[in-house]
Amino acid sequence: RLALIGFIGLGNMGAHMARNLIKKGHELVVYDVNNQSVNELTKFGAKSSESPADLAAKTQNIITMLPSHPHVNEVYLGKKGILETAQKSTRCIDCSTIDIEASKRIANLCAEKSVYFNDAPVSGGVKGAEMATLTFMVGASKTDFEVIKPFLECMGKNIVHAGDMGHGLAAKICNNMLLGISMIGVAETMNLGLSLGLDKKVLAGILNTSSGRCWSSEVYNPVPGVIEGIPPSNNYEGGFQSGLMAKDLSLAQNASVETHSSTPLGSMAYNFYKHISNQGYSKKDFGYVYEYLRTKKN
Ligand code: NAD
Repeated sequence: RLALIGFIGLGNMGAHMARNLIKKGHELVVYDVNNQSVNELTKFGAKSSESPADLAAKTQNIITMLPSHPHVNEVYLGKKGILETAQKSTRCIDCSTIDIEASKRIANLCAEKSVYFNDAPVSGGVKGAEMATLTFMVGASKTDFEVIKPFLECMGKNIVHAGDMGHGLAAKICNNMLLGISMIGVAETMNLGLSLGLDKKVLAGILNTSSGRCWSSEVYNPVPGVIEGIPPSNNYEGGFQSGLMAKDLSLAQNASVETHSSTPLGSMAYNFYKHISNQGYSKKDFGYVYEYLRTKKN
């Protein structure tokens, strides 16, 4: 079923996701605080809007892809936000990675206005967004899941029903805690191996056919030149920002406190990414942890 879809948040991920919806035949109305991002999408056939409220007045299907919960709060609950104008039975799908409790609060405020709100964060990186191969982890009732699945299938390959409201985010936050930990592990391993005189591609090849193998070594090796076409081979530009990884790891720490679960490595990874971000590298791709370790001799 083709529809008019409102899309808010046209950043590294959202711009590709919005394009894929257009490619699959949907009509799009878009909004972003960054006018340049909006212009690029209108060149691709989308219509622009003046605010989230203006967008919500025009469509009953809305997808948001924003950095963190303050941005999502503003877009849904703020002045000229979605809830000012949203029509009854509007379906909102938030694909941002945000705090579970913040997301549930927005969902409840939406429900008061008979607006549906589901969490559907993604995994797969900018490349996955571009190629429409993302994994979506959805927090929704079974009925809602079936209704929103066709939209998500335009942007991803694996659409997983993680459970009820908030469970999509719970799965995403767990995944990214492991990703942060494993990226640091691969970065320090590669750094040590290269210091020992090993060739970067030889070492990566050995890891990837041995027990150290993981996504961060095989698909997203942080050493420039090991894998072409990913941000570490492009001066760590245009990927998953270190600041966003610090944010995701902070969400895992919130959840760990909330549930009294012990996450010692998650806590170390959080502090490490927070440190890198505070040193001025928050916009660099999260593989930058390798470059940081390489230039920091002990
Ligand atoms: P990004 O910073 O590149 O894009 C965010 C966009 O939101 C920007 O275009 C920004 O201008 C816009 N924005 C911010 N505040 C706004 C507001 N109030 N109203 C309208 N637009 C606003 O971030 P991204 O890399 O696209 O990530 C988006 C989300 O997806 C984050 O939650 C991130 O953790 C998650 N994520 C990212 C990746 C990745 O590889 N980049 C992978 C999986 C999940």
